[in-house]
Amino acid sequence: MNNNQIEEIYSLIFKYFNKYLKSQNVKMPNLKSGDSYTKDALTLVYLAQNYPNTKAVTKSELTRFIQQFYPDVNDVQQARHLGAQKGWYILSGTRNDNFTNIKPGEYKLITLESSYPGFTGQKRIENISGDYWEDLKRAYNYRCATCGSKEGEANYNWPETITKLQKGHMDPNKPLEEGNIIPQCEKCNRADRNYWIYDSKGRVIKIANAKVIDNCSIEIQKQIYARLYKKFKGEKPTE
Ligand SMILES: [Zn+2]
Repeated sequence: MNNNQIEEIYSLIFKYFNKYLKSQNVKMPNLKSGDSYTKDALTLVYLAQNYPNTKAVTKSELTRFIQQFYPDVNDVQQARHLGAQKGWYILSGTRNDNFTNIKPGEYKLITLESSYPGFTGQKRIENISGDYWEDLKRAYNYRCATCGSKEGEANYNWPETITKLQKGHMDPNKPLEEGNIIPQCEKCNRADRNYWIYDSKGRVIKIANAKVIDNCSIEIQKQIYARLYKKFKGEKPTE
């Protein structure tokens, strides 16, 4: 990729950012810092190639690209940070994520029209007072609401991981603010859980993303279809 291509893709991203993402508190990285392209911008540009027909990119492929500008870099974390911390809808493949076709160690930019599921921007998260969060964790006896792993102790399902509680969404389609938070360990609080809505006890009570249905058996899909067909009286779906 040459400089023109990089800048072209960056300005395309910027257009989408202004139209869709800015209002959702997503953070747009600067193209340059001094004379050099920033690693965040390079990462985003690389993932946005051929947008909207983006493809999954391996971490090593991404690292090789960044190394053309930063030869000393050998562990590129930008893709992960751009998603979880800056709100870009970049998913990574994990061993436990059955809902995307992204393999472990790969990243994919899903869309530039909406933010990372459940992302509400740093502002709201900062508004949750330390007291509220401490009180909430205490109310849960410092345990993950979903799997019960205790803060500071080995995770029940991944014994080599020490549990650190995070603010998990009950409903990922609503802001992360008081009343919509449960403590969850880092294993239960992952992007793939944005497919579910939890109650205060950490139990799944609804689905938060209709894509889940693609994962169900044809039998269940037919049952859902029959219910919806009846409910909407065979109306043609509008999308
Ligand atoms: Zn957990």
